[in-house]
Amino acid sequence: MLKLKALSYLDSLTTPELLGYGVIGLATLTRSTLNLVISAFPYAPLWLVKALIYRNYCGGDNLAQVLQTGDRLAQRGIQNMMLSLTIEACDGAQTSVPVSQIVAQTQQSVSQVLAPHTAKMISHATDINCVPPGYVALKPTGLIDGAAEILRNHSNAAYEAGYQQLLSNCRDICRVVAQENEKLAKQYPARTAPFVAAVVDAERSDLQHGVYRLQRDLFREFNRGKVNVVGTVQMYLQESSRILAEEKELASKDGYLLGWKLVRGAYIHSEPDRTVIFATKQETDQNYDAGIAASIADMGSEKPTVGHLVVASHNRESQLKATQLLQGADARVRANVVLGQLLGMADNITFELMNKYDAKNVIKYVPWGPPKETKEYLLRRLEENGDAVRSDNGWPFLKQVVKALFRRL
Ligand SMILES: Cc1cc2nc3c(=O)[nH]c(=O)nc-3n(C[C@H](O)[C@H](O)[C@H](O)COP(=O)(O)OP(=O)(O)OC[C@H]3O[C@@H](n4cnc5c(N)ncnc54)[C@H](O)[C@@H]3O)c2cc1C
Repeated sequence: MLKLKALSYLDSLTTPELLGYGVIGLATLTRSTLNLVISAFPYAPLWLVKALIYRNYCGGDNLAQVLQTGDRLAQRGIQNMMLSLTIEACDGAQTSVPVSQIVAQTQQSVSQVLAPHTAKMISHATDINCVPPGYVALKPTGLIDGAAEILRNHSNAAYEAGYQQLLSNCRDICRVVAQENEKLAKQYPARTAPFVAAVVDAERSDLQHGVYRLQRDLFREFNRGKVNVVGTVQMYLQESSRILAEEKELASKDGYLLGWKLVRGAYIHSEPDRTVIFATKQETDQNYDAGIAASIADMGSEKPTVGHLVVASHNRESQLKATQLLQGADARVRANVVLGQLLGMADNITFELMNKYDAKNVIKYVPWGPPKETKEYLLRRLEENGDAVRSDNGWPFLKQVVKALFRRL
């Protein structure tokens, strides 16, 4: 979130990005301006959205632009990205473009952006293990038509063919990830982290047991001896620590590695059954930090089952706790724990982690895709940043943006 302290991060942004934040600051000056902007947003022409705030939150609408975003982030010291092709069926029903196209474009984002970008970052690095991997996000509800039904009923024989098709679509992407890792490993055999990895995103809780099965099937196939696939667990779920323990047991019995992205969870407001989530934010926070600490401890143990971990959070305390734990960890563990925030969100925390704590293991989640599809995503970001800015009043933030702009004159 955009917080008002430690604003020197604004100086690390490009002028168009700063102007974009100026627009967000203006939009969030008062509750009524924010509400007005949110209601008008769906009617705003795409060219205006693109001109004003698109680049703050989105990586581009084609792969060439995404590569440029990677370079722009690298200039800020952020060496890699988690790419998410934002074409999705919001309700888990029919995707707006054919799934085969989504699969093909996701594969291309690995071979044409993430692999060359990671290789470029490594070629400039003094230590090849200080460059975090490039990740490609797999959103299960965007990878098959009727995904919600299939995931919800994955253990019902009538949906088995659908589940197998979803698995096969994910497998097609993971295969490209594994091939790129093999190619780059020949060039850089001393690297201990993956070069690229596929990350299965977590969805609403009623779909999650299907998603756990999906990520487990992918771990089993692609994570033998090294990690190509990372799964997600939402730590706001009361069952999450049990899920982590069960997956650990299955992985150690079957001899494959787990890769985890731990998040708090994004669906608290749309969750039909609120009781599956911890009753308080404090409990979620404790559970999140405990999950991170347990994963890092497992990674440093004699027989680790967790091979890779993404601490995906905008929470400063959680990120600092993870960073402190890593200070005592060995080099292999340090290379395999990565701190992630969304592009355009928590920039002050990303900046602090890199500049005050010398963290190199930082990435940004970068959505990309047709502007029409990314507009929904942009609206959600505007609402979230709006909450943060508005709670401190938008003026101080806007003033800091204007000051940062004047410093450039
Ligand atoms: C790189 C990245 C990838 C992500 N991928 C996913 C994903 O695949 N699936 C997904 O669901 N989310 C995902 N998220 C979003 C994430 O789950 C959080 O919603 C978001 O990051 C805000 O949580 P936070 O850890 O940043 O911390 P904070 O801002 O400190 O915490 C806010 C979160 O705390 C929890 N919370 C708030 N109030 C309460 C309460 N009263 N009781 C219990 N819990 C509460 C909620 O999860 C809320 O989102 C991702 C985030 C990042 C940065």
